[in-house]
Amino acid sequence: MSNLHTLATLTHWVFDMDGTLTVGVHDFPAIRRELEIPPSADILHHLATLPKAEREAKHAWLLEHERELALRSTAATGAVELVLALHRRGCRLGILTRNAKELAHLTLAAIGLDTCFKDDDVLGRNEAPPKPHPGGLDHFIGKWQVAPMHVVMVGDSHLDMACGRAAGTRTVLVNVPPLPDMTDVDCRFSDCQALARRIAGGD
Ligand SMILES: [Mg+2]
Repeated sequence: MSNLHTLATLTHWVFDMDGTLTVGVHDFPAIRRELEIPPSADILHHLATLPKAEREAKHAWLLEHERELALRSTAATGAVELVLALHRRGCRLGILTRNAKELAHLTLAAIGLDTCFKDDDVLGRNEAPPKPHPGGLDHFIGKWQVAPMHVVMVGDSHLDMACGRAAGTRTVLVNVPPLPDMTDVDCRFSDCQALARRIAGGD
């Protein structure tokens, strides 16, 4: 597949954080139960529909819950090696997460990658519309002055892949089995280690 050959030449990379660079620890069913969010509803979209006082209280609970998780973050297989290799090559790197920006910084520090991302290249849920909305990637594309097809979106969920497809970037899925619908996925790797090897010209 031509995408595999060109990956190594691409210099603008945007990563999802939870479950992509870290081992996913969010228990989304438990969060939904605690916040009384229907099982099928999108958590952030649901919170946005609530009355102000309830919305703010539930956002505050979510932030504290996620802060605990951020402090205990561990890196996903090969994630540190991949990001450091891209950083050494001078690639421009961004984070696009539905987590909060301050917790993204805590998480990146916990896994030793905080120096690889410029502060304003970390977009959280208050800096960009939640994926799959392409607004976050559109922001990077405009700021970096790069063609969408020269940008890679790396993630572990259909939200990341749909976001990348909507913005016109390449999409790389890691850490999960093939999705039921792979139309938004250009390449899939078992983990970031396999992706790093591919970029380095290995297997
Ligand atoms: Mg994720």
